[in-house]
Amino acid sequence: MRQIRNIGILSHVDAGKTTITEQFLYLAGAVKNPGDVNKGTTTSDSLQIEKERGVSIRASELSFEWKGCRINLVDTPGHADFSAEVERPLQIMDGAILVISAVEGLQAHTWALWESLKARHIPVIFFINKIDRDGADAGRVIESIENELRIKTFCLTAPVNEGSQMAGTTNILQTGFSGSTNHLVQLSMENLSDLDEQIMEKYLEGETVSAAEMNTTLQKSLPFFQIFPVLAGVAKTCTGIQELLDAVLDYIPQPPANSDQLSALVYKVQHDPKLGKLSFVRIFGGTLKVRDEVTNNTSGNSGKVARIQKRFVGKAHDLKSLEQGDMGILTGLTDTQAGDVLGSAKYIPRFAPLKTPLMTVKILPVDVHDFTQLAHALEVMHMEDPKLNLKWYKGEGELHINLMGFVQKEIIIHELADRFGVTAKFEDPTVIYRETPAKAGIGHASYTMPKPCWAVVTFAIEPGDPGSGVVYESKVSFDKIKQKYQNEIQAAVPKALEQGIKGWEVTDLKITLIDGEDHEIHSRPGDWNIAVPMALMNGLTKCGTTLLEPILSFSITAPEELLGQIAGDLHKMRGTFDSPTFSSENVQIIGEVPAATSLDYHVKLGMRSAGKARVRFTFKGYQPVSDEEGLIRPYKGVNPLDRSRWILHNRGAFKAEDR
Ligand code: GDP
Repeated sequence: MRQIRNIGILSHVDAGKTTITEQFLYLAGAVKNPGDVNKGTTTSDSLQIEKERGVSIRASELSFEWKGCRINLVDTPGHADFSAEVERPLQIMDGAILVISAVEGLQAHTWALWESLKARHIPVIFFINKIDRDGADAGRVIESIENELRIKTFCLTAPVNEGSQMAGTTNILQTGFSGSTNHLVQLSMENLSDLDEQIMEKYLEGETVSAAEMNTTLQKSLPFFQIFPVLAGVAKTCTGIQELLDAVLDYIPQPPANSDQLSALVYKVQHDPKLGKLSFVRIFGGTLKVRDEVTNNTSGNSGKVARIQKRFVGKAHDLKSLEQGDMGILTGLTDTQAGDVLGSAKYIPRFAPLKTPLMTVKILPVDVHDFTQLAHALEVMHMEDPKLNLKWYKGEGELHINLMGFVQKEIIIHELADRFGVTAKFEDPTVIYRETPAKAGIGHASYTMPKPCWAVVTFAIEPGDPGSGVVYESKVSFDKIKQKYQNEIQAAVPKALEQGIKGWEVTDLKITLIDGEDHEIHSRPGDWNIAVPMALMNGLTKCGTTLLEPILSFSITAPEELLGQIAGDLHKMRGTFDSPTFSSENVQIIGEVPAATSLDYHVKLGMRSAGKARVRFTFKGYQPVSDEEGLIRPYKGVNPLDRSRWILHNRGAFKAEDR
């Protein structure tokens, strides 16, 4: 199997991600420049190259070769809360470079990125950039990485002549360690000693520790996240960049070899005016060839791969095949959506979603005549990012989408204007509530009129543990309801639970089919899609439901004198928190708060503290909330409890507009 590394470069905007990417391509020879690598190149040189060659190094998917290894750069967007876009790239990368500026240090966005990487167990290499700038202090950055992220670091390259144009790095892995006054080198040796007794002994005795010994301990400890490699450099002058590429080869794992069957993930789809739909894939198992007939495991449909492309330095190259571990772009598959699995799902890493959409909003055109255009634009965007969860309630003439946060709102408005020429606005934003049965009960529906039809079902509904989702079981024999109909019943359950009696998705419950019957002559496929929602809504009405609201964990760091005001804010927001901890002039407050009351708190806190305080939120889970503090919504569309209308509607008696 070919050597491959699929990596992401992540950073707070302006930390140097683009410059590093430029230098990678330059070093790899993908971009040719008569300049001398050792003398370094400048950003203006690189931009000149970009112009001359007509290559866009900012193109989203890029591949190049380094020392015989194919490196695929996974594109990552810069917005922390546009999370479906952040999450999917995380699912396909084997490791990440987290770039931090030596001057600005850890920033709120860096935190968010780190949290996401940590939750995914993705190996991370830290790159402290801009050590040439006035005010650069890699030592301080490393201190905050260790203290705030609570991890141990090892400096593969430590800065020398920091804060000047002479800035460079020393590399202890090249020379081994035989004493050094550089405090970052010392810190690294202490961290390494904690992981290996022999190194500890030699270090304390003042003996030489060889590069090989250090490397062995690093290699052993990295997969367990006991230590993280850190490099320093000046991206602008290509200082430390070669070492960074070497570190990618040494410390980010090769994708596992799974050759037995095709297992691929579509992580992005795009429309190309010439080529049609582009499906961006990562192959986790097997090989994919041009003209292969592949099954979309998610939709159940099959399609033929027309072309396979790969972008080396932004230019598309046609390939005959794509192997395990690699990434590429497919054409010819017309029904793929982002997140779909091609072939078997066996080797696709299963991740619980990191971030859940927290808000739902109604979206409408500024000019009413643009409604259809807006709806179709949103359909395209939903296909590219299913987490938008577009709902087009035709009866009400309403479009609703889910959002991760406020930044995404702006992005969507821009995208609609730029790509589709529609000016849109939002209305009625609310957090996404859920509901769960308040107690156990029975739901029944007997759909036997008007013939032909026959679907009788009885469900036992029980509350489940928080976070348990929907558990389904059937206790009815295939003699009473044939297997093919039982499959339909099970498939109808999730759709039926999309809206409960308070207008929200129903979750954390167990549903058991305890009785029912089909009819040899009258039952037909589709009858169960009508009966199951009637039975479940009937059951939920008897059980009653409890509203659940999304809760966020937060961590606030702020100047001490703001503690009183912040505690007051938190109280008003129905927040809870532990006793605050104090360090230098700052206070740290950790706790939980409902999303409904805190979605714009980062703005308020920023204003209160003139930007000195920062807050980090992570989604914690759902908790019960009273109907008064939550929100009950009317049912959208035709309610299964409205029996005759529901049946007529589903049998096509209503016009399409009513659906
Ligand atoms: P990105 O937003 O993370 O992609 O950052 P860029 O690569 O676009 O860099 C932002 C700015 O920082 C640009 O003006 C770069 O020229 C500059 N820059 C990048 N790396 C360095 C560096 O190592 N030292 C200095 N002084 N400036 C740098």
